[in-house]
Amino acid sequence: MEITSAFKRRGLLFVLSSPSGAGKSTIARLLLTGDDGIALSVSATTRPIRPNELDGRDYHFVDDERFSAMVAAGDFLEWAYVFGHRYGTLKSEVIKTIEGGRDVLLDIDWQGTQQLKQVDPDIVRVFILPPSMEELERRLRSRGTDSDEVIDARMKRAAAEISHWAEYDYVLINNNAEKCRELVHNILKAERLKAGRRVFLHDFVRQLIG
Ligand code: 5GP
Repeated sequence: MEITSAFKRRGLLFVLSSPSGAGKSTIARLLLTGDDGIALSVSATTRPIRPNELDGRDYHFVDDERFSAMVAAGDFLEWAYVFGHRYGTLKSEVIKTIEGGRDVLLDIDWQGTQQLKQVDPDIVRVFILPPSMEELERRLRSRGTDSDEVIDARMKRAAAEISHWAEYDYVLINNNAEKCRELVHNILKAERLKAGRRVFLHDFVRQLIG
């Protein structure tokens, strides 16, 4: 995929993965409000909308039939089953953001990350670990909405997600959301400066030394 268009450097696909309850959404939200140069890729999903969510802001909520049609039309860069529902990254979301001159934040699971790495080997992958499984369970329970059965299933799914930690470029432990956000932001800022992404340097250096 060509992702240099509106940039003097190659636009970044910045992936954030973690088990649910590890604080990823808080960190993603803090990162997006603290940096104008990155925007969230809003995925499509077949899972039902939750009361606090907005269609088009949190996800593009679609039914199974529509999702299958989108798969057939080649609308996705990647898609996967998570908790029995389908989730996918829309090409149109990523292209719109890159052409607008911003980097793309992708909140996707390990399966999606593996697929995306095949599409664009240049992606940056960040994994967020909870400080302990006890703390993860405490955070999941504190939402107060799920039964013991659901919590058990989420804990098992969390262990499975965590087992993929070594496939990521950066792995952080979330002891504190603000500190973790700062580290994620530092990673983003350093990645933007990588020589291979700053295509304008070729012209610049040619002018410098002829
Ligand atoms: P939730 O239903 O709690 O919003 O998300 C459940 C999981 O699905 C999260 O781990 C999230 O990272 C993952 N997810 C969300 N969107 C996508 C997507 O487009 N592709 C993939 N592979 N996973 C996604």
